[in-house]
Amino acid sequence: MTDPRLVLTNANLVDGEHPAKPGAYVVVEGNQITTVGTGALDTRSGDRVVDLAGRTVMPGMVTCHFHSTYHELGATPAPYGLEAPPPYQALRAARNLETALQCGFTSAVSAGAPCDVDASMKRAINEGLIPGPRFVPGSRELSTTGHGNDTNPWYWEMAAWGAARCCDGPEEFRKAVRDEVKRGAEMIKLFVTGGHGVLTPKDRLEMTPDEFTAAVDTAHDRGAQIRGHIVNKRAILMAIEAGIDVIDHGDEMDEECIAGIVERGIFVAPSVLFPKTFLSQMGSGLGFTDRMRADLEHTLKVLPEANAAGVKLVVGDDYGAVGFAHGRYAEELEVYVRDAGIPALEVLRWATKHGAELMGRGDELGTVAEGKLADLLVLDGDPLEDVTVLQDRGRIVAIVKDGVFVKDELRAA
Ligand SMILES: [Zn+2]
Repeated sequence: MTDPRLVLTNANLVDGEHPAKPGAYVVVEGNQITTVGTGALDTRSGDRVVDLAGRTVMPGMVTCHFHSTYHELGATPAPYGLEAPPPYQALRAARNLETALQCGFTSAVSAGAPCDVDASMKRAINEGLIPGPRFVPGSRELSTTGHGNDTNPWYWEMAAWGAARCCDGPEEFRKAVRDEVKRGAEMIKLFVTGGHGVLTPKDRLEMTPDEFTAAVDTAHDRGAQIRGHIVNKRAILMAIEAGIDVIDHGDEMDEECIAGIVERGIFVAPSVLFPKTFLSQMGSGLGFTDRMRADLEHTLKVLPEANAAGVKLVVGDDYGAVGFAHGRYAEELEVYVRDAGIPALEVLRWATKHGAELMGRGDELGTVAEGKLADLLVLDGDPLEDVTVLQDRGRIVAIVKDGVFVKDELRAA
């Protein structure tokens, strides 16, 4: 006895790589996609055959900049990550991860979390304790005195120990990276500059090149990936030189940076929806917001160039920051299509194929292809014609993760 197969027929196939193929079929056996094609297909007795009548099948998406615990971050005077007791934050993280899955993100990659929450989330998801995406857990945000603890006045006499972790000198970065890995982090986060929503100046380097290199090399030695909040050009070039895995934001990216990023195969998470949302709430006229607006405009202008040059761009943003709730993940795709003028096909590729590659699982996830794991969405609509369909959870009629339905509003034919 074999398990019944799931056979989706008459689908509009958006495979994460190529233009849409109408009249397609996709067969899932166990947790694998075993057959993909167009035209006639022999079905077996016992198959669950669903005629999708032209609805779209696409890969589950990957959000690559995810803060599981964040909730109105910056709205209270507490040091980041110490706004609530750790157990309460863990419950929030569980909720946010479930939300991501229900929004069609079958994978998520952390961009930093306090209190060792992420590693336990991964375990709880993998052991079936809570629903959630495939999750790459993150570390605290490592940075130096005067930046890493800039929300704590000096007279509190406390190092930051919430979302941030202060290190000074290469030895302290080595030790911190090793310790975060021991606590379960698989993605180390560095805070390299201010800017992009962070109040500290964007032009300063918060880490020296030797600190930076020590952190990157130690992460790689321990089998972890490493990313950084990086805004100014000097820091982007330093990150390229050190061989970082992911540049977060990269607001001052230019032609020289793009060439280096492509050469080293570095991923970039521009995360433009947060500054865009923040600016729409704050208006203009403040020095801080004017600088933020200039950076955002520059980013939107340089992104088509970066995309054309072959930069591995990914989606993900600071959901959970003040005024920027979790659950809005798919709005980001619309901004890249509408404001940066990137074709929806390319943005979908960022959200699927590139995300899987960032996870180091490009051979298993990220496209709808034979032999890949069955992380799939069925949509009532075509995201290549109108990317906003992904924002309407009611139009995501099915979500499959690892061959199992997370959501199933398909009706058997
Ligand atoms: Zn972030």
